[in-house]
Amino acid sequence: MTSHGSRRIVVKCGTRLLAGSSGVNHAFVANMARQIAQVRAQGAQVALVTSGAVAVGRSIVALPGDALVTRQVLAAIGQAPLMAQYSQCFAEQGMTVAQTLLSRADLHNRTGYLNARNALGGLFDAGVVPIANENDVVATEELRFGDNDRLSVLIAKLVGADRLYILSRTAGLYTADPESEPLAELIPDAGAIPRADLERIAGGASHGGLGGMRSKLQAALEASADGIDVVIAGGDEPNVIVRLESGERLGTRFASQGPRRSSRARWLSSSVAQRGSIVVDDGARRALVSNGSSLLPAGITRVEGAFERGDLVSLMDASGNVFARGLVNYPSTDLDRIRGKPSAVIGAILGASSGDEAVHRNNLVLIDRDAERGK
Ligand code: GLU
Repeated sequence: MTSHGSRRIVVKCGTRLLAGSSGVNHAFVANMARQIAQVRAQGAQVALVTSGAVAVGRSIVALPGDALVTRQVLAAIGQAPLMAQYSQCFAEQGMTVAQTLLSRADLHNRTGYLNARNALGGLFDAGVVPIANENDVVATEELRFGDNDRLSVLIAKLVGADRLYILSRTAGLYTADPESEPLAELIPDAGAIPRADLERIAGGASHGGLGGMRSKLQAALEASADGIDVVIAGGDEPNVIVRLESGERLGTRFASQGPRRSSRARWLSSSVAQRGSIVVDDGARRALVSNGSSLLPAGITRVEGAFERGDLVSLMDASGNVFARGLVNYPSTDLDRIRGKPSAVIGAILGASSGDEAVHRNNLVLIDRDAERGK
């Protein structure tokens, strides 16, 4: 149970469940509405993340290809009929839905993030079911969520969800691609498998819509590290949401790795909000992970991307693993000039100092919860 008093669930449905060549899959949407009415009657608050706008658009106007502008046009055509089905099916079950289109550019800064959070909270307070999709019409190539798996993590973070259900045509994460490998077995509990093995398995299985299994895995790992219980399951499984809510084991579960993080920490840990990356040496990584230190310019070996003071950046080790995120005190151009240098000379190099730290501890979260707890 969360601070707002009810269980909050985010359900993400993939394109292949929602739409086909003849448009919106009415039976699926009606089925979702029935299940969501049932879990709401048991006290849960539910938000949906929907895909399918592009596919529905394509069923109406047969534009070929997958260029950005084509996706924008198709999403603009398909989003309204998709929402119309949700409106109708949810109304039949006594619910009101709200369309919430988000773009990554709106959520880069904390103000934009809080603004979206307020809107979603207001919808829950009004007893409405928010239905989110990426605002594909204004998304640019660099600033797209790209797939709705990433968007679903963000929505789960924004609303402070207890659980995230990622539903697609695949019943969960398998030991190999089940479409080509008959001996593939469903992994019921991702916690039992080392992370590197999970990544290898998901990397090889690109089935299932735009995101594929790799992006579902990344989403599940990020959300569970934030204290959210995640299940990747088959959306066609009868009564899947109701059964998951009653505790039945279906699909692949990623148990939350600890208590839910604070709202601010959830934003700080958010991969979609980051503007650039800082690569640090082993000593700095150890000091950050084991000693709770701040990041000093001396420990920085490389600066990637263009960012301003106050932007959210990833901290990576030499092999490119992101182990923390935080708000940076210097713009990328300045940081590049002071990297590797002791803090005492910052003023002499830049003409003025904005403090000894490149990223202050208070503005930083570790991605791996075990590391955070000092394990
Ligand atoms: N936003 C896209 C759509 O509605 C879906 C992206 C995805 O499939 O992950 O069509």
